[in-house]
Amino acid sequence: MQTAIPGLHHVTAMCASPQENIDFYVKSLGRRLVKRTVNFDEPGTYHLYYGDHAGSPGTIITFFPFVDAGPGRAGPGMASAMALSAPAGGIGDAAEMLAEHGIDFVGPVERFGESVITFADPDRMPLEIVERPGQDYGHIAGITLWVRDPEPSARVLTDVMGLTAMGEERDDHGQRLRFKTTDSTTVDLLRAETRVPGAMGAGTFHHVAFRVPDHETHLAWRERVASAGLDVTPVIDRQYFDAIYFREPGGVLFEIATDPPGFATDEPVETLGQTLKLPPRYEAVRDRIEKILPPIRVPA
Ligand code: ZN
Repeated sequence: MQTAIPGLHHVTAMCASPQENIDFYVKSLGRRLVKRTVNFDEPGTYHLYYGDHAGSPGTIITFFPFVDAGPGRAGPGMASAMALSAPAGGIGDAAEMLAEHGIDFVGPVERFGESVITFADPDRMPLEIVERPGQDYGHIAGITLWVRDPEPSARVLTDVMGLTAMGEERDDHGQRLRFKTTDSTTVDLLRAETRVPGAMGAGTFHHVAFRVPDHETHLAWRERVASAGLDVTPVIDRQYFDAIYFREPGGVLFEIATDPPGFATDEPVETLGQTLKLPPRYEAVRDRIEKILPPIRVPA
């Protein structure tokens, strides 16, 4: 079977106001809302998906907006930053884009030989743009996982998931061990001292989803994760992909998702995200769901 995870599928986070979230990711960051649906486990709240025009795996950022959610904060056992890519020579354009939208940023600074700028979304969730040759703007270039002890997490990344260790660096945040998938998406394990535990809430990452190309490979990956002694869920149908979930040893919730069927399975690519899509089991209560969900407007 395939012995290395090719890349990320999506990253999922929590936010407070869905409208502020849409305005930021669509207007300021130029992402497209590619799916407007509900949290399948809690259908009274939205699940918003952003990505490139086609909703390609590897470009997808998703949010659960909890209107009354208090602010969370990153801590050990949670993802603590997500990086979007800028093409070679494109970090200046990215900085200009942020400045034009009135977004404060820090940098560029050098990290593992790459230029990085750091900023935050309206819920203060840490974001980065990294110059990554060979990638267009908007791909998820990497994710940072905050862990107390990187060693067990590193072993899962390399020995179970087939990522390549890229060395380590120390920066203002702490000690950073870098790994990469076969498509050069980076996973950084950050060891940082803190006395304050993290707390889920608006502006925190919920989980990190890796991608596999098909259902057969997905089942093989489930076996592989289970054989490594990790407690993995059964395959769950998420309408746009199949998913399995497990916690890596540092506590971060990992998902492995299939590329198929993709976001154009229930609406055409041209009109992705324009109307509320529900899985078949919730269609019978669509009226009730639509009454509960706050109205949202996608900026042009
Ligand atoms: Zn997910």
